Amino acid sequence: MIINKFSENIYYSDFVRETDRPVLGYIRGDKFSVMIDAGNSQDHMEEFLREIERMNLEMPKYCVITHHHWDHSFGMEFFKGETIVSRKTNDKLEYLKKLKWDKESVLKRLETGEEIEFAYNAMVVEYENFDDIKVSTGDIIFEDKLILDLGNDLCHIVLVGGPHEEDSSLIYLEKEKVLFAGDAHSGDYYHNEGKIDGEKMKGYIGNLEAIDFNTYILGHDNPIEKETIMMLLKKLI
Ligand SMILES: [Zn+2]
Repeated sequence: MIINKFSENIYYSDFVRETDRPVLGYIRGDKFSVMIDAGNSQDHMEEFLREIERMNLEMPKYCVITHHHWDHSFGMEFFKGETIVSRKTNDKLEYLKKLKWDKESVLKRLETGEEIEFAYNAMVVEYENFDDIKVSTGDIIFEDKLILDLGNDLCHIVLVGGPHEEDSSLIYLEKEKVLFAGDAHSGDYYHNEGKIDGEKMKGYIGNLEAIDFNTYILGHDNPIEKETIMMLLKKLI
């Protein structure tokens, strides 16, 4: 795994298309450090933390989850600190936890349309054995927003919803002016065949406009500047 250094305090991993592994973030704080998203499996979580250790960075105390989707949350069980989720995300994780995750049950949900083929195909590559799938709920639950004081910066976590999922949260650093977006602006693959709802996108753009950031770090792509992402998103309305 490659972890990219954005600044002295901000790092982000690469993403993997084949297994749908998203970008994982690391924010170094003077008081404590924070990880963004838990990854799609034990392996994903542990590979990230091994690399953090190799880079002589302190283990993160908290792991903030951008939204409940498997690729961002299935590593939660294997995080050593505490996980932070919105209540909306936690409700969805509670539901996922009740489901059976053996291959046959997932295939059944694929037939009924509850699961999507893209996710299943990536799970098959990530998991040799579906019995290894563990779904976990959060330790610290916030309603709409939460601010973590890292000592050297304030880390804002804001539930915004948007076109991808109703439980998407944005995480941004006030001084660094870096925003971790997860998949928040993407289409809705679970309820709308990957399409973008124009009204939800308008609301989402409004949320972004109100935040003072320079760099936008995506869940499954390379980071981009604010000006570029705003231009791209406006075209998608
Ligand atoms: Zn997602």
